[in-house]
Amino acid sequence: MKKGLLEYTNNDLENASVETVYNAVLKLTQNKIKETPHVSGERKVYYMSAEFLIGKLLTNNLMNLGIYDEVKDILASHGRSISEIEDFDPEPSLGNGGLGRLAACFLDSIATLGINGEGLGLSYHYGLFKQVFKDHQQTEEKDVWLDKPSWLRPTEHTYPVTIGDTKLQSRMYEIDVLGYNKEKTTLRLFDLESLDEKLVEKGIEFDQEAIDKNLTLFLYPDDSTEKGLRLRFAQQYFMVESGIQYIIETHKEHLDELDKHIVIQINDTHPAMAVLLLIKKLLEHDISFEKAVSIVSSVFAYTNHTILAEALEKWPLAYFEAVDSEMLSILMKLDEVVKKRSTNPNVQLIDKDNLVHMAALSIHFSFSVNGVAALHTDILVNSELKDYADMYPGKFNNKTNGITFRRWLQFSNPSLSQYIEDKIGDGFKKDATELVKLESFINDETVLHDIMDIKQAQKERLKDFLLLSDNVSLDTNSILDIQIKRLHEYKRQQLNLLYIIYMVQKIEKGYKPKRPVTFIFGSKAAPAYTIAKDIIHALLTLSTIIEKDALLSQYIHIIFVENYNVTKAEYLIPACDVSEQISLASKEASGTGNMKLMLNGAITLGTLDGANVEIKDHVGDDNIYIFGEDSDTIITHYENADYVSRDYYNSIPELKDAVDYLVSETMLAEGNKVNLERLYNELLNKDWFMTFIDFEDYVKVKDQMFEDYEDKLKWAKMSLMNIANAGFFSSDRTIADYNKDIWKV
Ligand SMILES: *Cc1c(COP(=O)(O)O)cnc(C)c1O
Repeated sequence: MKKGLLEYTNNDLENASVETVYNAVLKLTQNKIKETPHVSGERKVYYMSAEFLIGKLLTNNLMNLGIYDEVKDILASHGRSISEIEDFDPEPSLGNGGLGRLAACFLDSIATLGINGEGLGLSYHYGLFKQVFKDHQQTEEKDVWLDKPSWLRPTEHTYPVTIGDTKLQSRMYEIDVLGYNKEKTTLRLFDLESLDEKLVEKGIEFDQEAIDKNLTLFLYPDDSTEKGLRLRFAQQYFMVESGIQYIIETHKEHLDELDKHIVIQINDTHPAMAVLLLIKKLLEHDISFEKAVSIVSSVFAYTNHTILAEALEKWPLAYFEAVDSEMLSILMKLDEVVKKRSTNPNVQLIDKDNLVHMAALSIHFSFSVNGVAALHTDILVNSELKDYADMYPGKFNNKTNGITFRRWLQFSNPSLSQYIEDKIGDGFKKDATELVKLESFINDETVLHDIMDIKQAQKERLKDFLLLSDNVSLDTNSILDIQIKRLHEYKRQQLNLLYIIYMVQKIEKGYKPKRPVTFIFGSKAAPAYTIAKDIIHALLTLSTIIEKDALLSQYIHIIFVENYNVTKAEYLIPACDVSEQISLASKEASGTGNMKLMLNGAITLGTLDGANVEIKDHVGDDNIYIFGEDSDTIITHYENADYVSRDYYNSIPELKDAVDYLVSETMLAEGNKVNLERLYNELLNKDWFMTFIDFEDYVKVKDQMFEDYEDKLKWAKMSLMNIANAGFFSSDRTIADYNKDIWKV
């Protein structure tokens, strides 16, 4: 090892540039990875996803290879620190949020369990976007990650893709994904050969029509215009056309019984067009239409991630025609098939406005449809997708999401991980349910104090990190209350905002909190999502107001970390005390941030939504803080259309004061009138995600939580119970379930 490192750095490890040392470690690691066996087997699963939010890979790979300490020591003996190399490692920008992070955790578990599976997706040159704050506003820039040598490796595999009249070429790239102490798998990412990075002008603007140059520039390009929508559609087509060609090439000997050999799991409906394209390819290989439909229906399995009506994909029929007329004719034939099965308008492929429902395509022509948490699946089966569930009762199943404990405990919180190992042995690394052994220490004050000390040390580590990354100073004596996730009204960052204002107003009236609270946010808003950006603006504005105020800044801080990503999550999560999981009940399919935070000993403050319900079942009512209306109540309000936010505003004085503060002189003096008034009016006149309905209960429970924090032993016990009962939420369990019930590889 040492020899290799020296050789790659011209025998001058001491004085080589960080880049040279990084490249040396990269090469060395890649050579080691080459020796690791690849998952294999008769039957194979392809996990198709528009996103893979994999995070940095260096530390992960070194640790999984078991050479992290050795490399660290060699570097240290030459006066180099491994952390400068880890910092240099670029974070691939291939995802957006929970759905993409899930795909990354799944690949880790697939490799660790030795399941014969691979990931298929796209290589985006500039990712989603890099978030930069200017004048209390989110602005977007391209997220450059491919400018240095990276883990992405080109292959010789290229595929022709024709979109309308435009002939394009797709090239496959690979990223190795290492399991823990075992095998590896491959993430295969397709890229446009003729891509032109120079197309990007200022910020993230570019010519949306030049698909021969722009197709893989960004993930989820702006879809607020017709051009943008067509681009997204073309991008999806490019992904699945490339993926299906690769699959056909790999399995060409047994196309007529393809369903015996492969499963394609589609992560939400972004890859749903693959159903049509696989039929197209089978027809080209002289398989009859009926047979092709039957094969495809036993190949595809579909994971649903949302019940938000506006997020269920629908594409105009005209787009199919413009991109591939053959695909269109297959779609029309499938439409006939569906009509024969049912005349119910709720389950048709094409609606009266000539929109194609991608969920309908995914459900009718797959053999499995799963939700991602027990409550979510329940809502799918009993309300959102009820007509489908009645049609295909055996198809629907639940697979509660999970996270890889390698990244979210062992690598991101090594001190806690080591401590757990000292107490209960290292069995939990292979079988996460062994964490429950920690419960035997519930009355051991030494252990409880140790847990508190580790949390404190993680706060110090976060302080150092945030100073460098965001140039902010963290008060490590404060309670860390953290809400990190995409910005969306259903996730209700605005409810958290209203609580902070409520606290501000209480302090101004003379209340003195026992301990300061730091409210940390990390969140990107979709570039065209106006209200989401207004919420960011309000939080950034309030943050400055508080910092400038001598009284308030003794008790409250708001830190909005810029450009939230996996690396930032890895520092924030181990330091967290209060995990904010406050979505409107019935709207969050599962959440996985909630799982990462409980695993690191944070206590959940949440609604009975998504996987919070199962977290509560596992930790028990005494170790979680639940507030708000339940999903049945909320669903009924939507059905009756009887929620009126103004009624709550008029009847709850603290709520009225907090909402009015958004457009107070103080806020308008520091912030922007347009943003603040728009947010104020939205909440007062619409509030589609019912922020106000839970305000009173949220305040009550959160106040109680901050009070309980002062009982340190009680808090440490809750923390321990959360860690001990996180085992169920390991993605190893999730993937074992997918394999047992769906993939059977
Ligand atoms: C886990 C994770 C998410 C998902 O968070 P939720 O709270 O489940 O929405 C999003 N982004 C990053 C970077 C993550 O690591």
